Amino acid sequence: MVYKIVRSQRKTLAIHVRYPNVEVRAPYTISERQLHHFVQKKSAWIESKLLIQSHKHGERYQISENNIIPFMGNTKRILCTKATKNKVTANEDSIIIQGPSLDSAKRRSLFEHWLKAQAQDELTTRTHALTHRLGIENQLTDIKFRKTKSKWGHCTSQGIVQYNWLILMAPRHVIDYLVTHEVCHLIHLNHSKQFWQLVGDIHPTYHESKKWLKEQGHRLWLS
Ligand SMILES: [Zn+2]
Repeated sequence: MVYKIVRSQRKTLAIHVRYPNVEVRAPYTISERQLHHFVQKKSAWIESKLLIQSHKHGERYQISENNIIPFMGNTKRILCTKATKNKVTANEDSIIIQGPSLDSAKRRSLFEHWLKAQAQDELTTRTHALTHRLGIENQLTDIKFRKTKSKWGHCTSQGIVQYNWLILMAPRHVIDYLVTHEVCHLIHLNHSKQFWQLVGDIHPTYHESKKWLKEQGHRLWLS
C-alpha cells in the first residue's frame, strides 16, 4: 500500500484516508518499522474506506456534453459549443458552455464560475428575505461564498454568513434549509434545542433536508 508519512510533534499515530490518497500522521519518535506495522494492521480498514470513497467519487456529477445535471430543483442538459470567447448561459432546459478550447477542466471551471454567480444572486436574496422576515436585518453584516470542504455553511459571531455555492445543485428544500440554518445562527450561535426549534418553525421538514445533504451532498462535488 502506498501512503504518505507526515511527521509532527503529535503523540499518537493516525491514518487519514482521502481517496485516492492515504496519509499517516506520526510522531517523530515512532520508527519506520513500527509505522509500517501499524499500517499493515489497519490495511483492511483502509481498503474498505478507499472503496467507499471511490464509489462516492464515481457518483459525482460531471460537466460534459449532453450530461444532465441538477440545478435549483430542476435538471438541465450541458451543451458545449466552440466560440472565440468563454461564456456560460442558461435557458429553461440547458446550460450552454462556450469557449475556444473546452477540455474537461475548462468546462468545469467555466461552469463553476457561472454557478457561483448564480448562487450569489439566489442565496443573497433568500438570506435577506429571511432576516427581514425575522426582523434581524441588523445582525447580518456580510454574506460570503466559498467552496469549503468540510461544511456547507457557516456563521460567525460577527454576523458573517458563508455558503458553499455548490448547494445550488441541491433540491430547493435543501437550499432553503441551508439558508434557514445559517440565518438562525444569527440568533443562536450554537446547535442548542432553541436553535433547532427555530429552524423547525421556519423549515418544518429540516430533518429530511439534513438527511439529503448527508447522503447525497458528496455528489455535488463535481468531477
Ligand atoms: Zn450550524
